[in-house]
Amino acid sequence: MILLYHLIFPDETPLRSWNAGNLIRLSAFRRQLQWLQRRFSFLSLEDFLALYRQDPALCHAKAALTFDDGYACTYSMAAPVLKEEGIPATFFTNTCNLNHGLLWFVYFNALCSEGAYPELEINGGHYPLDTKRNSLGAWRTLIQLARSSPDARVFAEEFAGKYPLPVPIQEKYAGLTTEQLIEIGASKLFSLAGHTHSHPYLDQLNQAEQLEEMALNKQILEEVSGKPVLYFAYPGGVYNQESIAAARQAGFLAALSVSPKSLSSDPLFEVARTDIYSPALWKLQLKSLGLVDFVRRRRKA
Ligand SMILES: [Zn+2]
Repeated sequence: MILLYHLIFPDETPLRSWNAGNLIRLSAFRRQLQWLQRRFSFLSLEDFLALYRQDPALCHAKAALTFDDGYACTYSMAAPVLKEEGIPATFFTNTCNLNHGLLWFVYFNALCSEGAYPELEINGGHYPLDTKRNSLGAWRTLIQLARSSPDARVFAEEFAGKYPLPVPIQEKYAGLTTEQLIEIGASKLFSLAGHTHSHPYLDQLNQAEQLEEMALNKQILEEVSGKPVLYFAYPGGVYNQESIAAARQAGFLAALSVSPKSLSSDPLFEVARTDIYSPALWKLQLKSLGLVDFVRRRRKA
């Protein structure tokens, strides 16, 4: 099983907080790791994929830990815990947000959940951010508009011109710093992997544009960290045939999704991951024991 985490929040974060869904605080993350350690042996992603390449059955009771997007705060909180426990981790890192920047959808998450504005005006409509329900409504509208616009990143940048975020909020969601990339590059426990430069929906780009996003990201990560970047994860799990071809062209050895679509004859370019979005231990237990997938398959059948 390859686990996929995104943001980890500090324990001071109020319990009722929301961030485009449930949020995982550091203590919940620790509890999840403790449970996982009793049932799985943690491998580096490289070692996990080496077994997977031989035979996926060899990965039984093995786990690899991955984090997507490359958040500075998440790294600085999770890294000491992982070092203490000797758990390897791979950080699938975007590069347009390095050193204090925000990814386009992360800006919307922070805008709708952090209370910087009481309401938003979206296409002439008023969207209050006073309750979790209203905030979620505003967030869904913004994500849908971004998804249907020609360039989600430009759409977010224009919106941020009207609704800039205060620096302390921005810092909670900002990308890894150069120092952190160098630290990961020098670490025996951690590694960097590709996640595109700006986290676009790959299916909105042609193959050449997809390749450009992947190659620039890979180049920056390798230059700053001093280590080759061998693996890639499709942003948001969205990919098509061209994405698989572009990931190969960019020189990646494997590409990870969340729910594989079996578009390729090479399973190494559609490796599944188990996404963990909830702090609840029982949800992690169900997912990691394969029960969630089992129920989904039964429903589809
Ligand atoms: Zn991502």
